[in-house]
Amino acid sequence: MSASLPISETFVSIQGEGKLTGVPSWFCRVSGCNLRCTWCDTPYASWAPEKTTRTVDELVDEAVASGVGHAVLTGGEPMMFAEVAVLSSALSKAGLHITVETAGTLVLPGLVCNLMSLSPKLANSTPTDDPRDASGAWAKRHEERRLDYGAINELIASTRDRQLKFVVSSREDLPEIESVLANICGYAPSDVMLMPEGVTVPDPASIAWVVEECVSRGWSYCPRVHVQLFGDTRGT
Ligand code: SF4
Repeated sequence: MSASLPISETFVSIQGEGKLTGVPSWFCRVSGCNLRCTWCDTPYASWAPEKTTRTVDELVDEAVASGVGHAVLTGGEPMMFAEVAVLSSALSKAGLHITVETAGTLVLPGLVCNLMSLSPKLANSTPTDDPRDASGAWAKRHEERRLDYGAINELIASTRDRQLKFVVSSREDLPEIESVLANICGYAPSDVMLMPEGVTVPDPASIAWVVEECVSRGWSYCPRVHVQLFGDTRGT
């Protein structure tokens, strides 16, 4: 019997973030996450996970039938599920390019990946005083889990291409980003991306500082093109 996965949603759109921005892609969002970012833009795959159980065979058939050449395995946290490795292998055998979007806290043996899209979580992500976490248990767990340099370095070493996307709220995030990068190997400055926090199109004046910091360091500015085109809408 084919392996199965808890799936929040699948859809075809253009990739909205990172090096492959604009590339038509089949997205597969698993439901479930080991973190709880306070600004999570997919709470239906983390804080309040919604899911349908789908078999790997069904998912591969859907991806191939979509006719696009790129698959994006995202979440939630795809590294939590052993079946994602099975899915990645089957998609690769079917000829698709695989991007895996992960917070980089877990390593998944057997994963096939062409572009490792890592988004290490900064302190601005911790759900301190978040009403969804009245006991504070998730804030504590999130803080303990959000950075695992062993996992990040292993994931970077395991793939030929990578990007490191940092969600930034203010200039105060920069010292932490520098500190995180000091613990990571195997990337070029252009692999580092700063993405302003938020699920709306930012006012250009409010993000000028992000562009300045990228230019001065040789990092890349990372817009969310899907938000510009479609707004904060599921399935895009
Ligand atoms: S790691 Fe991603 S899916 Fe999980 S809570 Fe953070 S933003 Fe949401």
